[in-house]
Amino acid sequence: MPTYEYLCEVCGRKFDLFQSINQSPLTTCPYCEGNVRRLISGGAGLLFKGSGFYATDYRSEAYKEAVKKEKESKSDET
Ligand SMILES: [Zn+2]
Repeated sequence: MPTYEYLCEVCGRKFDLFQSINQSPLTTCPYCEGNVRRLISGGAGLLFKGSGFYATDYRSEAYKEAVKKEKESKSDET
């Protein structure tokens, strides 16, 4: 059974999951229920760091909260 690596776009956690090929991919983070992305294994080197890149237009409530907090913390710096 292959191991898939997931990255949560909301809390940034990375975790591995054993799944059969027939299973549908995980879409929500087990920690924060945010949107997760399945990383491509095998040295493809496609790693997007930070919050600037999103593979889909999906926007979860947790994501919106994270963006809101990020904006608020940035405006506090001035
Ligand atoms: Zn998460």
